[in-house]
Amino acid sequence: MSDASPAIGGDRGRDWQPWVILGVLAIVLIAILWLTHRGERPLSKRTVQSGIPLTADQKSVDFQTADLTFEVLPNEKRLNGHAILGFQVKAPITKIQFDLDPELPISALAADGQVLDTSKWANDDGLVTVNLPQPKRAGDRLTLDVTYGGRPHVAKRAPWDGGFVWAQTKDGRPWVATAVEGEGCDLFWPCFDNSLVEVGTVTQHIIVPKGLAAPSNGRLLGIDHLADGRTRWNWRARHPNNYAIAIDVAPYQLAQTTYQSRFNYRMPVQYWYLPGETKQAQNLLAEMVRTIGFFEATVGPYPWWDEKMGVVETPHLGMEHQTINAYGNNYKLAPEGFDWLMNHEFSHEWFGNQLTNGDWDDMWLHEGFGSYMQPVSIGWLHGRMGYDEAMWKQRQTIANKFPIVSGKHQTEESVYRPETGPAGDIYVKGSWVLHTLRGLIGDQAFWTAVRREVYGTSDPRPGNFQPRFGSTNEFEAIASQEAHRNLKWFFDVYLRQAHLPRLVTSRQGSTLSLQWKTPHGLPFPMPVEVDIDGKRQVVPMTSGRGIVSIPAPYSVITIDPESKLLRQDDAMDSYRDDQASKKASGGN
Ligand SMILES: [Zn+2]
Repeated sequence: MSDASPAIGGDRGRDWQPWVILGVLAIVLIAILWLTHRGERPLSKRTVQSGIPLTADQKSVDFQTADLTFEVLPNEKRLNGHAILGFQVKAPITKIQFDLDPELPISALAADGQVLDTSKWANDDGLVTVNLPQPKRAGDRLTLDVTYGGRPHVAKRAPWDGGFVWAQTKDGRPWVATAVEGEGCDLFWPCFDNSLVEVGTVTQHIIVPKGLAAPSNGRLLGIDHLADGRTRWNWRARHPNNYAIAIDVAPYQLAQTTYQSRFNYRMPVQYWYLPGETKQAQNLLAEMVRTIGFFEATVGPYPWWDEKMGVVETPHLGMEHQTINAYGNNYKLAPEGFDWLMNHEFSHEWFGNQLTNGDWDDMWLHEGFGSYMQPVSIGWLHGRMGYDEAMWKQRQTIANKFPIVSGKHQTEESVYRPETGPAGDIYVKGSWVLHTLRGLIGDQAFWTAVRREVYGTSDPRPGNFQPRFGSTNEFEAIASQEAHRNLKWFFDVYLRQAHLPRLVTSRQGSTLSLQWKTPHGLPFPMPVEVDIDGKRQVVPMTSGRGIVSIPAPYSVITIDPESKLLRQDDAMDSYRDDQASKKASGGN
């Protein structure tokens, strides 16, 4: 530039030109940045949350069907959507409301086939209100036709935040995924963003560029070849969780086999993977088949036995998308010979998709139970050592900052933020609560209680159960019935208090005294096993206290020799805090 510049102090008329050029360049740059990063704008206050209580109008209808067409345009990072939503009216309405990210503007809307003027509907901060042309009475049906589109919200670090992931394969082809558990379904389709609403049937028609595949939820109805070379993938799923609806697009290949169940059905097992990974894909497929067999033997029938077991390789770590679980663990090897991520997401088909929490406050029913299945699975593969080792690892990160269950309505966000909710404890502490419960009431009562909570029956068979909503209170009642004793004290201390019970022990002369100390002095008659010189005894601790006599001055005493009890452990806490501070300061 200096070569072509006029001498300093030369023609003033030419002096300003570089500034104009710079200014124009700056504006163009800002415009490009704005256009390419629009997806990272903050979401509206309503859209960012999931689990906001339903509006009166939403409560007045039964959301029965959603027929969703998605045109996925990876080059433009754009989504064009057309949704046909079917409702059964339960109480009189003059308007209907649904959730949709306002950054995906609606271009046309019709009610029962009648196109509505734009004055009849509006999207206020993510809540769309549609004034109906005629009032509806209980028993009426209502169909809404919604045409919308735009650049869907982009997730920055999926699955920990929600949105679209526009990635590329190693050879530069589109690799697209969605993960919207935290923010909800309204990031890409018109829905009721509340876990209490599960649409009876969701049909998807996903249009993708030539050469790409779009595996999705449920059964494949067929693939249409469009005149322009693109393909349309048609899928149908029954009763999916709203956040379980997923779009996955890539040049996928399919590893597939048939599963023959102990419950007398046959079902496809599918793993959709990127080209060049056939060997790893076949290994994972074999592990999937083994895993489903184990889960069916332990918990009960696979809930989507009439659809498929599906896993798809994603650019993000994972997510429990019903019958099309996201897998992004890169076939990581583990000494257990076991893929924890596949196992964890798969567990959500029972704990999350079949059994769904009625409120996010009960989210441990998904994550605590889901996380407990990994140690149980490793125990199946490797015996007691594998189980204990996995439990020991989980024990090291329990935070005890907030109760797992608050007893109040919660959004997903408030549960997951460590400043406001139990966050990781719904996983690891939830898993440990189940471990301790199992130790207390025994295998038979424990697994029967789990089965009843998941299916609503102790004898589930394909066809005799439906997806259901559960709660902590319900599980407490079922576990109490199966154990033939009231377990309120157990759930009160472990789930409804932040701090763990502490077992205070003191040895004086020939006596060992034990006492449970609980938050607010809550009752805690938790029996304690004690080994003295190799001899086991159970201290009933009925009033929270117990005494054991010690035969000799140097008797060797081990309290809780089988590590059944979740209890306060100061050394563990110091270690946890030390690890956390080292991590925060960049060390290891
Ligand atoms: Zn999970």
